[in-house]
Amino acid sequence: MTGRMDDLRRRFPEFRVPSSHDEARRGMQRIVSDLADQLLPHAAARIGLTHEGLRERLLGARLEESHEVNGYVRWSEGGQRFEIVLNLALMMFFHKMVKLLVGTIGFGEDEERATEVPIGRDTLVAACKGLIEAFWAGRLLTQAGLWYEQFGKMQILLTEHLVHCCECSVVGHELGHVVIQLSPGEVEEVRLARQMVDGYTALVSGLEGEAKNEMARAWVEEICADLIGLHLCLAQPKTQPLYSHWRNHKQMLFGGAEIALILRAMLEEYHWKVHCGNPRIRVSPVSTHPPGLLRLAAIRASKERPAFSETDLLYRDFGGRCAVFAKDILNAV
Ligand SMILES: [Zn+2]
Repeated sequence: MTGRMDDLRRRFPEFRVPSSHDEARRGMQRIVSDLADQLLPHAAARIGLTHEGLRERLLGARLEESHEVNGYVRWSEGGQRFEIVLNLALMMFFHKMVKLLVGTIGFGEDEERATEVPIGRDTLVAACKGLIEAFWAGRLLTQAGLWYEQFGKMQILLTEHLVHCCECSVVGHELGHVVIQLSPGEVEEVRLARQMVDGYTALVSGLEGEAKNEMARAWVEEICADLIGLHLCLAQPKTQPLYSHWRNHKQMLFGGAEIALILRAMLEEYHWKVHCGNPRIRVSPVSTHPPGLLRLAAIRASKERPAFSETDLLYRDFGGRCAVFAKDILNAV
């Protein structure tokens, strides 16, 4: 196994696979720190600060272990400096689940005659269930998903690219909060976010007055952070070394943002379906963040959404594939 991994790492320099607990923490720490550095100049440009000016205020990106399906920004020194805090288990969940998602895709001349065949459905359902259960039980890091041994070269590359895009969107979202906080005026994304939230909350009964307003305010900020995060990810030029050999890097980054939202919604939906009422499992209050599907609708309505090729089947719609995958798995458990 190690021989093949070494070979892959040689052939694909960006290939990074955290596996054991310590390696996962170290590897993921490096990945989120690199991503924060990579997105920072674009965040600075949005605020009207110099790259160095914003970099001085970033204390770093830190991982903690929790059940949170969302990260947060911790401000200190009276709002002068900030730190991005992400859940290690959530980041590893993306890593393991994207592998399963790609496991549904065959590669070859066409999907019908794939030489890299999809993984059997029973294997996929069992692996997904194992990962979601492990996430809520706090043992995601040691839960086995799929081994790369079962994958062909295209499947491995696609997994790596999409995992990167998911991770990018998560770090981008937190920098989105930073942009909102440090921008001199209201960010332009507020208009779309407010429209989406108003449309949704109009349909929610049983919540009125100040409680409803407070929830709506929190949701608008979260959706703005999603939209700004998307903008930061897509502002990265094709000339950036990582993307220089990618096809359709913007479509991939947009797909990663969709996948990250769908997988979070999947985690929560599974929890409500299977464990609702189980006091041993702690879930963050849902109301501080908008439902995953509303967040998904918002980024899909964004002007940032890249055009998709009609002819390129593979790069057309990762979000659509992931939504079908999530629905199928949730129906099967
Ligand atoms: Zn947020």
